[in-house]
Amino acid sequence: MSTSFLEQITNGLLSLVYPDNCTICKSPHTNNPFFICTPCQKMITLNLPPFCAKCSRHLRNPEKNILCPQCQKTNPVFDQAWAATRYTNAMKNLIHLFKYKNKTALCHLFSNIIILFIKNYHINMNQYDYIISIPLHPTKLRERQYNQTDLLAETLSKEFHIPLSKNNLIRQKYTKTQALLNEKERWTNTKDAFRIRHPSNFLGKSILIVDDLITTGATVCEAAHALKRAQTKYIGVLALSIT
Ligand SMILES: [Zn+2]
Ligand SMILES: [Zn+2]
Repeated sequence: MSTSFLEQITNGLLSLVYPDNCTICKSPHTNNPFFICTPCQKMITLNLPPFCAKCSRHLRNPEKNILCPQCQKTNPVFDQAWAATRYTNAMKNLIHLFKYKNKTALCHLFSNIIILFIKNYHINMNQYDYIISIPLHPTKLRERQYNQTDLLAETLSKEFHIPLSKNNLIRQKYTKTQALLNEKERWTNTKDAFRIRHPSNFLGKSILIVDDLITTGATVCEAAHALKRAQTKYIGVLALSIT
């Protein structure tokens, strides 16, 4: 078997695995495992310091405040949240594709961005007993067929050897899509949305919640409330993006 024939097979297989067009701009590009071209990758804005001491939102006035306006207003119940990117147009498009358009392959790129963030900012992952993802309501899960945050949580669980806790945090209330609501409605919408099925499993444990996006923080705060009721010791949040 000649080398060129082998190469042909390999390239053929690669083009099956890695489609030739960029997920965002559709431009043809050389095979790459992230499914998006280099110019599009560069449009992703990483979340950079100065960070809000609570939620890691980029601070505009670090000399005046250590908390972002949102955290000053709402006083979140989680202990600490981190987000790897800022929710600019590129991230908006990408998260939409990831969430609603079956582009689950983006999980690879997103996990890489989050892992890099964790390493850059020396986030202590050893402290966590469990990783959990924000669950979808069963009805929504049936409609969408997959939960994009499960995919992120699974990858992070493997990378950092933290057990993934599935089905203990459950969504007991069918909520409207947060993106369609204003700030006040978002808090009412998620109120009592979550429940812990077996509280004793989380008693005294440190839990890391994985989510794709922090906007007002209403969803993660409501999940954190449920965890607090189960008497967890520490609640961290890790998100792909923050507004
Ligand atoms: Zn592109
Ligand atoms: Zn904040």
